[in-house]
Amino acid sequence: MIIKKSRDEIAKLARAGEVVARAHEALTAALEPGMTTADLDRIAEDVITRAGAVPSFKGYRGFPATLCTSPNDQIVHGIPSRDVVLAEGDLVSIDCGAIVEGFHGDSATTLVVGGDDAVDERGATLVRETRNALWQGIAQACDGNRLGDVGAAVESVAIRHGFGVVREYVGHGVGRALHEDPSVPNYGRAGRGLRMSAGWVIAIEPMFNLGSDHTRTLDDAWTVVTADGERSAHWEHTVALTIDGPWVLTARCDEPSHPLDEGVPTY
Ligand code: MG
Ligand code: MG
Repeated sequence: MIIKKSRDEIAKLARAGEVVARAHEALTAALEPGMTTADLDRIAEDVITRAGAVPSFKGYRGFPATLCTSPNDQIVHGIPSRDVVLAEGDLVSIDCGAIVEGFHGDSATTLVVGGDDAVDERGATLVRETRNALWQGIAQACDGNRLGDVGAAVESVAIRHGFGVVREYVGHGVGRALHEDPSVPNYGRAGRGLRMSAGWVIAIEPMFNLGSDHTRTLDDAWTVVTADGERSAHWEHTVALTIDGPWVLTARCDEPSHPLDEGVPTY
């Protein structure tokens, strides 16, 4: 069942989204070679708790940390660890969620350790184009459009670059629960699927692989990796559909919160 949100509820979701955005900004500023993924987790938890919010993921189905941190061939749901030391040129996908007044925000980035110039061309293209795909999907998150319009816009970017589109994990509704209906796939056909309407709040979250779309879960029962060992990237925003277009609730300070007015960014 899709739960539409009132203006008051969307305002709370926006506050949760802001906390998540501030955590990502802190992580982006702090990331450097030699840090562990546990260091990242501590930074995010600090930002979230100082804001009076609660981490969404910690304790979710027993997940042990504030962030999911997924380097290189890890796609999603990696567990932060003191044993995972990030090196220059690594890709690290960082997924963060926070709860404010009972409502969640959910957003993910993939960063290059040591800065964008520290990775090879293929890795840089993967990160950049996964982010572009996210914004192409967001631009379709409009009252009256279909879910397939979002999926097709995201998938078309992957097709253009020959990336594998992860199919087992998809976007979702966001509200009082971290994962609500509907599912928001990163593939689809324009003009098909459920008709979207103002009041929906959805997380759009493309996961693209340099190789095939096949995945595998490690023995920790959480960490999802590419079956072929190729690198993966993941970008995600929580988006409220309004009659005036998509409102990106988790937009960071360098991103537009109303991309149809401010311009859909390209990276
Ligand atoms: Mg997420
Ligand atoms: Mg999500």
